[in-house]
Amino acid sequence: IAAEHGDLARDLAAQGVKYAVAAWIDVLGRPKSKTVPIDHLPNLLAGSERYTPRGMGGIGRMDPVEEEIAGIPDPATLQVLPWDRRVAWMVADMSWGGREPYALCPRSILRRQVEAAAETGYVCQLGVEPEFYAFRPESLEAGRLVPMTLSEEIEPSPAYDVEATLDSLPFLDRVCSYLDELGFGVFSFDAEGGEGQYEFDFAHAPVIEAADKVTLFRLAVRQAAKESGLLATFMPKPRAELWGSGAHFNMSLEDMAGRNLFRAAQGRENWSKEAYQFVAGVLHHAPALSALANPTTNSYRRLVERLADGEISWAPTKISYGYNNRSCMIRLPANRPAIENRAVDSSANTYLTAAYMLAAGLDGIRQGMDPGRARDDLTYLADVERLPRTLLEAVEAFENDPLTGEVFHERFVRDYAEMKVAEWERAHLEVTDHERAAYLLNL
Ligand code: GLU
Ligand code: MG
Ligand code: MG
Repeated sequence: IAAEHGDLARDLAAQGVKYAVAAWIDVLGRPKSKTVPIDHLPNLLAGSERYTPRGMGGIGRMDPVEEEIAGIPDPATLQVLPWDRRVAWMVADMSWGGREPYALCPRSILRRQVEAAAETGYVCQLGVEPEFYAFRPESLEAGRLVPMTLSEEIEPSPAYDVEATLDSLPFLDRVCSYLDELGFGVFSFDAEGGEGQYEFDFAHAPVIEAADKVTLFRLAVRQAAKESGLLATFMPKPRAELWGSGAHFNMSLEDMAGRNLFRAAQGRENWSKEAYQFVAGVLHHAPALSALANPTTNSYRRLVERLADGEISWAPTKISYGYNNRSCMIRLPANRPAIENRAVDSSANTYLTAAYMLAAGLDGIRQGMDPGRARDDLTYLADVERLPRTLLEAVEAFENDPLTGEVFHERFVRDYAEMKVAEWERAHLEVTDHERAAYLLNL
């Protein structure tokens, strides 16, 4: 193998590649890596690069004397970055002391669920539909985020608006070219419901690969934005009167031969028993899942019925499912054999969210859960259990759900809950303009 790796390093060098990274994923979903000169690729592949858990984005900080963690690259993920051909990119799993998967490593946490699924004969496929905003950076300083499109306010919403897309094409074309070169299989992109908001849709993949794609997607979007003089953000709700940024998760199960197990035939209600049980499991664990799928205090400003101007948000608020019903948390779409979880937002760590959603769905199958009846109404008004309203509520549900201990090591649960409660408390300390307007002169 070492000799092969030497050849690979020489091949890459001959193409002009000077460096390699092998990125593990932190709790925020950000890739982290040391950079090695390309002639060190064989060492990198053998796990030469060691890390302390301090760079994990807020977890792993409880233990000052932590054994070093090795990044073990996944060679199947090797790609030359289209926007900087000096750099070969790989994704890595973190290994504790070079011996066992590190308990706080999001990719290893997902891998464990993938292995558990395989033991019961299932392969999980995932397609993510990320939404994001691109703003003019100078508007950050002015205190009012201005979308990149020329007209600041388009009424009604610019969703699918061709002129809005064409205005943004210099930027979107950059993103699309990068994704094409990375082999994403882009189906389409569009102007979304908010001014300056966009969505890209691309091919689904086995769940770890799909999460790796989202990691690269965020990098590619940020890169294209910088090159276009824009500021791209995956923050779920940058402005109260704009639409939120969701990252709908389309998840399905296949058997080991690659046959989809969710849909037997076409037709609105032709979903399999496994599909309904899977849906039931995800609904059952939805409050706990929220702590991962909606991981910021800002996430809960998206999970509301209406935008500040009164328009419907099309983000879910109720723990429900329906056929092609976009007001439900879970939609069983007409055009694909996967269930769509609309609660997930763009700030979610794809690995952690997918691990818990998969475990929740499999729990539904294992226990033969029943999702109840599908809803055809606008569920915002329905008398159905609500998704958590705050990060604090979600974290409490996460800590109290017995499934949490099956998916995450107790250290992860402890660190994550502590970090998220602190985040909620910090936001809770703020006295806002809204509160002053509502109370100062009236009380
Ligand atoms: N932007 C909406 C959300 O917050 C979703 C719109 C859509 O259906 O694509 O999830
Ligand atoms: Mg969308
Ligand atoms: Mg969708």
